[in-house]
Amino acid sequence: MAQAFLSRLITGLRHVEKYEDPQLQKKARDCMPLSDMLRRADKRASESTASSADCFVIELLAWFKKEFFRWCNQPNCSTCGGKTEASGHGVPTPEERRHEAGRVELYRCCACGAETRFPRYNDPGKLLETRVGRCGEWANCFTLCCRAAGLEARHVVDWTDHVWTEVFSQSQQRWLHCDPCENVCDKPLLYEAGWKKKLSYVMAYSKDEVVDVTWRYSAKHQDIQTRRTECPEDWLAHTLYSLNLQVGYVFKPSVEEVSLGMLCICYDAVRDAYYRSMVSDLHTDSTPTLEGWKNGVFTSSRVFRKEELDWNKVYLSREEGSLQGCVSWKIDLSGTGVVAECVLIKAEHKCFSSGKVEWTVATDDAKSLSVPLGGPNAIDISELNGAESCLITASLSGGEGDTAWQHAQLFRSSSNEPLVCSLEIIVSLKQKE
Ligand SMILES: [Zn+2]
Repeated sequence: MAQAFLSRLITGLRHVEKYEDPQLQKKARDCMPLSDMLRRADKRASESTASSADCFVIELLAWFKKEFFRWCNQPNCSTCGGKTEASGHGVPTPEERRHEAGRVELYRCCACGAETRFPRYNDPGKLLETRVGRCGEWANCFTLCCRAAGLEARHVVDWTDHVWTEVFSQSQQRWLHCDPCENVCDKPLLYEAGWKKKLSYVMAYSKDEVVDVTWRYSAKHQDIQTRRTECPEDWLAHTLYSLNLQVGYVFKPSVEEVSLGMLCICYDAVRDAYYRSMVSDLHTDSTPTLEGWKNGVFTSSRVFRKEELDWNKVYLSREEGSLQGCVSWKIDLSGTGVVAECVLIKAEHKCFSSGKVEWTVATDDAKSLSVPLGGPNAIDISELNGAESCLITASLSGGEGDTAWQHAQLFRSSSNEPLVCSLEIIVSLKQKE
């Protein structure tokens, strides 16, 4: 059962990748009266406290419902235009399949007896042409229109058979519920309170991640809990977490570093920059090799850099409201003719209350071992002797109350200090045998 759940999540993530196609976005923009909608949004904004961008969402919903898309319970006869009756399901033709019609509904004309096909297209580009369907087609095509108009948008799938869109409001810094079929914005309890739906899982898919957004669509969280029986909750949390990991930067030694037999990496949390030399060789005007913590990480999930301006502190912590955050750095020596001889790592962290930071190091064979990093001294990770790659990961969790996310911090430093290398990795290299 969990396997079916996982494949549903993966399908959902694959689907939203389509919205990022520049040509498809252009095709959508060509259908949209953008300048009219922008003008109306500006006017609406001038008469209210809402931002122009939020008002644009209202205009987009109204245009989509009133002018662009059409609802269809059952089609009229394609031969004579008469009324039809459902007559079962057909097999998609190659052309229908090309536009991702997984199912084709068949209807027989009450007047002339001809058969009419209703292919349920999933290809949002095809929907820009057909402009017809039920909530699936509506939300699919509307989410594309939002992305084409430059809005941050996600495709929301409710396991009890409804689909809608969410748009991120920059002015309010939150996701707005948008139901194109209903021409409704920001009424998240519509389904549970209005339609008496018994919700179980509601997932929001964007180009960056899949998020379990069930709880914001319900005021009856305990009832929902009893209906979430498709997979264990910890399995779901872990699966979402893994699906959202993003793969990134890898540190590889330069020719010079290989001939020196040494690779040194420092991260300065105050300057938010990486350097490629020993801390002892660094001075305040050293040039960083990479700027921005995120540009040097291999993966990160739900982690951000916090600057406490009033306390003059900087650190990495997990995002507010998230249960777990994770960040990792990768060193790859493959193809250089050398392997690690001795790996020294210093990585500081600070925990408050029940906050927790766990450090692991994974070697070539992906075996992950727990390492007691976190203090001010470098630790020799002898298991990495002979390794061709290593992955250093910090997992942040725990803490109490609303500020739990703040109770596990990486590289906490005073922002007025000259040079603070709270992460230092020194790899001495030897010839590969
Ligand atoms: Zn007919």
